[in-house]
Amino acid sequence: MSDVERTEFQLPPNLAIPQPRAQGQAGGTIDVAAGKLPGESEVESTLRPKSLDEFIGQKKVREQLSLVLTGAKNRGVVPDHVLLAGPPGLGKTTMAMIIAQEMGASLRMTSGPALERAGDLAAMLSNLMDGDVLFIDEIHRIARPAEEMLYMAMEDFRIDVIVGKGPGATSIPLELPPFTLVAATTRSGMLTGPLRDRFGFTAQMEFYDVADLTRVVTRAAKILNLTINPDAAAEIASRSRGTPRIANRLLRRVRDFAEVHSDGTIDLAAARGALAVFDVDERGLDRLDRAVLNALIRGHGGGPVGVNTLAIAVGEEPATVEEVCEPYLVRAGLIARTGRGRVATASAWRHLGLEPPEGTLGI
Ligand code: ADP
Repeated sequence: MSDVERTEFQLPPNLAIPQPRAQGQAGGTIDVAAGKLPGESEVESTLRPKSLDEFIGQKKVREQLSLVLTGAKNRGVVPDHVLLAGPPGLGKTTMAMIIAQEMGASLRMTSGPALERAGDLAAMLSNLMDGDVLFIDEIHRIARPAEEMLYMAMEDFRIDVIVGKGPGATSIPLELPPFTLVAATTRSGMLTGPLRDRFGFTAQMEFYDVADLTRVVTRAAKILNLTINPDAAAEIASRSRGTPRIANRLLRRVRDFAEVHSDGTIDLAAARGALAVFDVDERGLDRLDRAVLNALIRGHGGGPVGVNTLAIAVGEEPATVEEVCEPYLVRAGLIARTGRGRVATASAWRHLGLEPPEGTLGI
């Protein structure tokens, strides 16, 4: 630990437990039974599945997780730490809430960017109660000193808190109650080896297929009291980029359209009409996805192009292009990541109405 960092966290003199800060800073506790995140709308929280049985798709992950949780329950111990990896909107936060719910535990939430200093994490950890689930979203953005403190906390349920400054600083060991860390990441490749090794179970969340997303849309429509035709549900599902969050969002836009243009019943015409208004094309690509394809193909002859160049061309952060756009474009077979940069495939050229040149990938 460096001297700079030693000065950052001061344990209160009487070892009083620091109060967790509001969500968005170091974190906070949520009421799992209510299933509502800070800042989340009522609609979003009612749509969130509350148990493993209600969770649609991700069969493998559900099966594995169910074993981990049941095993821990039977042995009367806390479950192993869990890492949930995958693109945004696939249900990582939902799964963390379900883990707490299934274990009858409280969920405390924070995120990597909020843990800038070891002290931020110490405050969070020293607030934990026996059996709590600590959820750290975007764990790949955690600062190094906090990450190092997390190693010991995960392994031995103990941290060393540094009191004082400079050469006179002393380290006080602090025992923690047994807890389960559930961490989510959109970039598991950015995690250091020592951190990854400390998770007993890693769940790789995959994009959902159309059948599962159709069930997501149908379930959400039922909760929202909407009448939807099966072909309309399938249409919304097939244009949701394999992502439940997008499926739920599109459903709400289609509902608006159906209410304005007809009696509110969601049929195929309403679904198609709304998706056209909201610029979602027949493969489910949105404005940003198409901007990336355009920059790659019209701006750079199909690549290879570095992600930073693409990000500048579309006016977004490189992380957004990498974490939000690219996973789906790769999975849809529209772009490929190569050692020299991103390359458009023949189907991407055709998607933009262009003839791919000789030698294009996928011809
Ligand atoms: P992430 O944390 O991976 O970004 P969330 O857990 O916040 O994703 O999920 C986004 C939204 O998608 C949630 O509001 C939830 O309603 C919905 N959702 C996610 N997974 C499922 C699922 N398996 N079944 C039904 N709805 C889901």
